[in-house]
Amino acid sequence: MFEGLVALVKGMLTTGREMTSPPVTYQYPEVKKPVPPRFRGRHELKRHENGLEKCIGCSLCAAACPADAIYVVPAANQDNERYSPGERYAATYEINLLRCIFCGFCEEACPTGAIVLEHDYELAYYDRRSAIITKEQLLVAPPKPNMGTPRVMPDPGNLYAAIPPIKGGTEPVNIVEMAKAKQ
Ligand code: SF4
Ligand code: SF4
Repeated sequence: MFEGLVALVKGMLTTGREMTSPPVTYQYPEVKKPVPPRFRGRHELKRHENGLEKCIGCSLCAAACPADAIYVVPAANQDNERYSPGERYAATYEINLLRCIFCGFCEEACPTGAIVLEHDYELAYYDRRSAIITKEQLLVAPPKPNMGTPRVMPDPGNLYAAIPPIKGGTEPVNIVEMAKAKQ
């Protein structure tokens, strides 16, 4: 009988303690749980500061993907229709999230820092087709409305050739402009 009473008091104390301690639950979806800085969520295709797309359609990400989840079709940039620095851009870029294992190999393989696994973890969908995310869904918004792509560049012939940025480093350097400045 005495043991039962002790157990009851212990239980009531635990209940009382939990009632007065701050809640550990998140009122999702109104409140979202913060994720660690290195969390790998849904991918984004990034842009340069001038709004051009960082992706150059090289398909290295697709080659590195162990799940064969990435599909890239490159096309050539034109002077009056420029998407990215250099000669090519990704005309089609798709990721099949049903295949993706969020390993981050695509991010590591990308020479321009274009594909980045960000912190969005809300990846529910109602049908299989919706699990394939397209370039339009992946590409981030331009820094200003007039910096979107494709666009006509002011100086035809300039490829806006860029040295790929070092991860965590500075924006790429326009080597054509550098050559002009040295003359
Ligand atoms: S995170 Fe891994 S599995 Fe997913 S697309 Fe990138 S390389 Fe493929
Ligand atoms: S995301 Fe990077 S690796 Fe993939 S096609 Fe674009 S530039 Fe190449």
